[in-house]
Amino acid sequence: MVGTLRRCSPRSAGARSRRGARIVTWPIEDLRSYYVALHEFGHAATWTLETKLSAGVAARAVAARVLLGEARASAWALDTALVRPDSRTELAILEALTWYIEAHGGNVGAGGVELVAAEHVGEYSRIWARCPQSWTWDRD
Ligand SMILES: [Zn+2]
Repeated sequence: MVGTLRRCSPRSAGARSRRGARIVTWPIEDLRSYYVALHEFGHAATWTLETKLSAGVAARAVAARVLLGEARASAWALDTALVRPDSRTELAILEALTWYIEAHGGNVGAGGVELVAAEHVGEYSRIWARCPQSWTWDRD
């Protein structure tokens, strides 16, 4: 079974802390699962207080942190990978970010940018722009 970027769990991936992080991912069997693994490493590599999930934080702030964390992890994977993603993998990245946007009530057409904290809009928008924007897919 191939892993998915959707609904990845930064906590189970060990991204809560840069020290002693434990990365849990599916076996690397193809390009997509390679990117899934890199994405999980990306959570640990790009972890900051801005992407840390903590109790007692308002839903709006959680959405901002989750979306920024997911975008940063995917960007890190794209920047770090030794091979370019194929179309299936690009679509998986887009689908994953879309899932997070929808899960937090964001506007997919706008890339969910309204969910992101003002100081991160530029960074987030540049990452979102790296996703193929013209694709659609069948949803379950
Ligand atoms: Zn993730």
